[in-house]
Amino acid sequence: MSFSHLGLSDKVLAAVAATGYTTPTPIQEQAIPHVLARRDVLGIAQTGTGKTAAFVLPMLTLLEKGRARARMPRTLILEPTRELAAQVKEQFDKYGAGQKLNVALLIGGVSFGDQDTKLTRGVDVLIATPGRLLDHTERGGLLLTGVELLVIDEADRMLDMGFIPDIERICKMIPFTRQTLFFTATMPPEIARITETFLHNPEKIEVSRPATTAVGVAQFQVSVGREPHEKRETLRRLLRDAKDLNNAIIFCNRKREVALLHKSLQKHGFSVGALHGDMDQSARTAALDQFRKGEIPLLVASDVAARGLDIPAVSHVFNFDVPHHADDYVHRIGRTGRAGRAGTAISMVAPLDYKSLAAIEKLIGQAIPRIDGGSESHVDSAAVPTKDETEHPRHSRARDGAREGGREGSRGGRKPRREREPRRSGGGRHPEPKTQSPAGAFTPAAAAQPSRTPSIGRHQAPHAAIDSSTEPADHSHLPAFLLRPIRARV
Ligand code: AMP
Repeated sequence: MSFSHLGLSDKVLAAVAATGYTTPTPIQEQAIPHVLARRDVLGIAQTGTGKTAAFVLPMLTLLEKGRARARMPRTLILEPTRELAAQVKEQFDKYGAGQKLNVALLIGGVSFGDQDTKLTRGVDVLIATPGRLLDHTERGGLLLTGVELLVIDEADRMLDMGFIPDIERICKMIPFTRQTLFFTATMPPEIARITETFLHNPEKIEVSRPATTAVGVAQFQVSVGREPHEKRETLRRLLRDAKDLNNAIIFCNRKREVALLHKSLQKHGFSVGALHGDMDQSARTAALDQFRKGEIPLLVASDVAARGLDIPAVSHVFNFDVPHHADDYVHRIGRTGRAGRAGTAISMVAPLDYKSLAAIEKLIGQAIPRIDGGSESHVDSAAVPTKDETEHPRHSRARDGAREGGREGSRGGRKPRREREPRRSGGGRHPEPKTQSPAGAFTPAAAAQPSRTPSIGRHQAPHAAIDSSTEPADHSHLPAFLLRPIRARV
């Protein structure tokens, strides 16, 4: 299948050819003809699947006819974060270079005046975060009655961030006759509910299972103590010893932790940037640009700030904190191992994290091998969760962790994100925790698979369970001390 069979205009096909892409990705192949036929689309796809072009390319084709009127955009794309909105605009700039379209970005942290001037000129494509968009409609500077096509992107993330009430308000301002394209990586019940309200007889397209982790990403866990300084010390050692670490994203659960870790790494001489929702827009953009260009090899980030960002070729992902929501683990490690490249994801696991880790292993259907963090004091065979413990974490150390004052009380239920764009209304809902998984944690199948990686620590690399190729193992991506066997305390 080539792009020319999808019904795109000649101009758009020329722009695609100029980028060097020859074959549409599955979401593009399936979605583009329906978008061009003016059907509603429900796309279940993660970032990295080419989903942005799946709506940008047909939109460009449809927008070739007609003209924008002042303050009445013709199309609207809603994104949960400023960075994602900016990234979508980049794609319009790239593929729409040959068209005279007005594309405007309405995001927080940028002056109202400039945005207002753009709106007055007339906008073909408006890309916005919900809060800033509502600020403009409330000031009377923006009318949504001319919107013919609405894109709601990363809907499950919108839910996490408490944006759904805002989205519902926005939808009520747009004519019922509009075309709606709705993209989500996962389908919690609340999202399923709103698709019934927002979409009319949609074409449903699902391109990959939501909870699969990328093949080719070697995943490991390293035990750390509870004290923050111990975790930072282990992280520094991991960073220093990794031989082929080109660049890495280091994830923290909280904005405050991002800021602290960023400072600490700088103090220890690392070239590092930070990305979290409380930073002002220019600092966020600058950090991301520097990281993309390779000027800084390390980026400490929170989930919300980093979700969905298209950063090619990240060699390593570190979870400085194990994420509380198993879905976030999948998204985080999806930053590496992109486009068939090898990647390494290392999670730093403190005793309080056992429950979250068990939920992750259940979701991905694999045990994450435990390796030596380089500090003997933390290597404790008794600390390795057994199969029984991971399946029944409430009767194990995880419960002890909760008793010790951790934020473990949600029993796997999702809490609304703390980190949000400046303007929000309503709180996030709490979708049901994911209960299905392809297999339980520590499946015998996973353990029995031949491994590309000879024994590292106690378990085999989880990607071996997916990829049983007999190629010789390549350990060059791992720091030397990770390859030492675990010394069990007896
Ligand atoms: P997305 O899922 O939209 O974030 O896209 C992920 C990456 O895939 C981006 O860097 C795109 O430029 C790239 N991409 C999109 N479509 C194609 C295609 N047909 N062939 C190769 N790469 C693509």
